[in-house]
Amino acid sequence: MDVMQTPLVYLKGVGPDRARLLKEELQLVTFQDLLHFFPNRYIDRSRFYSIGELPRTNAEIQIKGKVTSINFITQKRGKRMVAQFEDETGSMELVWFRGHQWIRELLKINETYVVFGRLNWFKGKASIPHPEFELESIFQQSAKMLFYPIYSSSEKLINKGVSQKVLQKLMTSLLETKSNAFSETLPKHLLDQFKLIPKDDALRQVHFPISQHLLSRAQMRLKFEEFFYMQMQLVLKNVQRKQKIKGHVFEKIGINFHQFFEKHLTFELTKAQKRVVKEIRMDMGTGRQMNRLLQGDVGSGKTIVALLLMLIAIDNGFQACLVAPTEILAQQHYHSLSEQLEALQIPVALLTGSTSKKERQALHEGLNNGKIPILIGTHAVLEDTVQFNKLGLAIIDEQHRFGVAQRSKLWKKNELPPHILVMTATPIPRTLAMSVYGDLDLSVIDELPPGRKKIKTLHRTDSNRLKVFAFVKEQIALGRQIYVVYPLIQESSKLDYKDLMDGYESLSRSFPLPDYQISIVHGQMKSEDKAYEMQRFIDGKTQIMVATTVIEVGVNVPNASVMIIESAERFGLSQLHQLRGRVGRGADQSYCILMTGQKRSQESQIRMETMVKTNDGFQIAEVDLKLRGPGNIMGTQQSGILQFKIADIIKDQSLLKAARESALKILKEDPSLKHPDHQCIKKTLAALSFDSNIWNFIS
Ligand code: ADP
Ligand code: MG
Repeated sequence: MDVMQTPLVYLKGVGPDRARLLKEELQLVTFQDLLHFFPNRYIDRSRFYSIGELPRTNAEIQIKGKVTSINFITQKRGKRMVAQFEDETGSMELVWFRGHQWIRELLKINETYVVFGRLNWFKGKASIPHPEFELESIFQQSAKMLFYPIYSSSEKLINKGVSQKVLQKLMTSLLETKSNAFSETLPKHLLDQFKLIPKDDALRQVHFPISQHLLSRAQMRLKFEEFFYMQMQLVLKNVQRKQKIKGHVFEKIGINFHQFFEKHLTFELTKAQKRVVKEIRMDMGTGRQMNRLLQGDVGSGKTIVALLLMLIAIDNGFQACLVAPTEILAQQHYHSLSEQLEALQIPVALLTGSTSKKERQALHEGLNNGKIPILIGTHAVLEDTVQFNKLGLAIIDEQHRFGVAQRSKLWKKNELPPHILVMTATPIPRTLAMSVYGDLDLSVIDELPPGRKKIKTLHRTDSNRLKVFAFVKEQIALGRQIYVVYPLIQESSKLDYKDLMDGYESLSRSFPLPDYQISIVHGQMKSEDKAYEMQRFIDGKTQIMVATTVIEVGVNVPNASVMIIESAERFGLSQLHQLRGRVGRGADQSYCILMTGQKRSQESQIRMETMVKTNDGFQIAEVDLKLRGPGNIMGTQQSGILQFKIADIIKDQSLLKAARESALKILKEDPSLKHPDHQCIKKTLAALSFDSNIWNFIS
């Protein structure tokens, strides 16, 4: 067995108790785990504060001085031990609430100590509770060590005496167990290409760096390695899946596609649209099942891509379905697609939660016998009773969280699984996409149709409301339509609902009948009422649409040119961006007005500024990622695989990219890792105790 798999209980300085503690508190079980338990940060040992010039903060500091006296002070809350600590510039206190006896025995009066810890200020007096301390003479002996590593710890560990110093000692004895070098895990050509230092050096330097420079090199090497093996696993998984799962072969482009493309397409596709149609078409012709994510900013024209792909499915004798997240959106897709396909005489059916039982029966029959080639719907499409004759392609709109379980519902419907395309306008930062969707194929529409005017985004507070309303009247006079959106963060929130109704009433007063007509749509309405109101707005019968975020995704009313978002500080960045995407769809100059109160948190201020500054969904996603962190963006399900030991998916984006490209290249050139150079990869992959999170998510 590999020495590194040895349980920690066999390490010098670790007994059964400590082994248990390390496992419970830090999830460290083997030598290997401890070795890859990297410091959070480092203390520069060359930097000393003098007591006379301490910063008035709770900073962690290092000082040098002597203990002049030790006292025990008994209080109601317990006993504390207080050491007076002095240097030439002043005095302060070192305080212990626990462990008095052994510390008392250790501390020598009038000897010079180097002390490290977090400052505490009370009534103008400085103290350090539970400091780390070391005799200066001993400190000197290890002077070649420039930095002290600081590891993440826990209250319990500290209470049980597993201090930073103890962790450092364990690390030292671990590094000493290996007199020969830790074996290399990356092939030489990668080390050369990216100027990475050997694994052994990196491990030793990351725990006990002797210079800032070597520390940076060590960190870079280990980050690269971490990303590289994550990418290796993801890419391998993708390759394996493709080998395993057979799919329908769409071998031709037929009459429907050609006719539509040549006679009925009212605009020219953008280059990006053409490219993704081609990518996806190729993927559907390989004999493997397609699992692909199509990303494109709001308004980039994903729907037409979906339509063309469905025509390819039909041309090859298959059925296709398009699943939308809301009923409104499903209806809208249904109307626009049936209109566009009318000339080709291709029937399109709609299935949602409010489809009547009778209609359903006819639908089920048509799907079952194949007479209905295209089905549009909500999640009702995924119900077990819905059986297709020959479903070849399932397109999921606006839902990048379309999960594994939902996908498998489509699988059961046929012998071979349909090709699956998930479309999303929620821009996912490239690095996140690379990590979370590293096993999926990705197509990106990175271009908007020509002639779109940039949406002007303004940030206004309640005190500007009259001016905003005056502006709205101007726009309505020009024949435009207006959205006013209220937050409804929780569907059940009475307060949010009240805000919406209050807002509706106040708008009705400012925009009175008969000159103005206002539609309202919110989650507590019956879906037929929603559809009715929505339709009035689409038909231009109402000028203002008051809504909650039900209109967030998908809705397409090109004549609407103003989006007012109320209480904008309560929306997340990606939601704001989605909402803004509802305007700017026609030829007119469009506006997005973010209304907030006077007072805002710093974070919401950044959100507003970002929205005002840029229309680019990817840039917005990057800011969002920085503000909220990867776990919050992708949801807990996926956050597991975003936890890295040393790499940081936000800060180390370029390394991630390099690592992914390297993994792809190696697997392309040497798929079964036969090359002698790649034996280390094979070995490392085999030894990797795969993070179960990764496998749960992917498989
Ligand atoms: P999204 O990607 O947000 O789903 P849509 O598919 O709703 O975007 O398209 C937005 C609008 O742009 C629609 O009105 C659509 O007809 C139009 N559109 C799509 N592609 C093009 C193009 N290549 N040229 C001009 N208009 C286009
Ligand atoms: Mg869309």
